[in-house]
Amino acid sequence: MKIFKEGLVHIYTGNGKGKTTAAVGLALRAIGAGLSVCLIQFLKGYTEHNEIKVLKKINKKCKVIRFKQTHPIFCLRNKTEGSEKILKKRVFKDFLKAKKEVFSKNYDLVIMDEIINIVSQRFLSESELIELIDTKPKYLELVLTGRGASKNLIKKADYVTDMRIIRHPFYAGKKSRRGIEY
Ligand code: ATP
Ligand code: MG
Repeated sequence: MKIFKEGLVHIYTGNGKGKTTAAVGLALRAIGAGLSVCLIQFLKGYTEHNEIKVLKKINKKCKVIRFKQTHPIFCLRNKTEGSEKILKKRVFKDFLKAKKEVFSKNYDLVIMDEIINIVSQRFLSESELIELIDTKPKYLELVLTGRGASKNLIKKADYVTDMRIIRHPFYAGKKSRRGIEY
């Protein structure tokens, strides 16, 4: 597609709510503007969040890839994934598949949702992700989300937004709600 001469890099990080929903909002805006979009979601294989269902319905302009590996931070009930070592191996395979999409030249915008968690949880080395940023197609706009972005990753991005938590109902004992949290 190559809409941009120079694609920029975005990071949505921090402990506050809004990283994935901001990325999905950007995907919608981009689709509306005729950009070709790919949203790749890591670590949330346990259930398809409702925004993903919508994006899949408009899949002519938006490819959605969700990897089935789930991390306990996203689903404490999920005990089926085995040891950290196995998880690490599987997540790395997912990363390699995602990398193929990034370099496929099929998209103007690629979103790697929760990829930063993979690095901050040490399932992938920071240098692997930095290498992807450094070598991505020049025109490609790239969005990375997840908690705990490192200083070196932050240096690599053009847009960096820290979703800082001031308050969240979770800490008042309130459960997550369909349509708001998922
Ligand atoms: P959202 O998907 O709502 O934009 P997020 O991507 O910023 O949130 P994640 O770190 O991916 O947040 O968290 C996964 C889930 O936890 C989401 O359902 C999200 O709404 C919820 N959440 C976000 N921030 C917090 C928090 N500080 N405490 C508890 N739950 C949170
Ligand atoms: Mg998220």
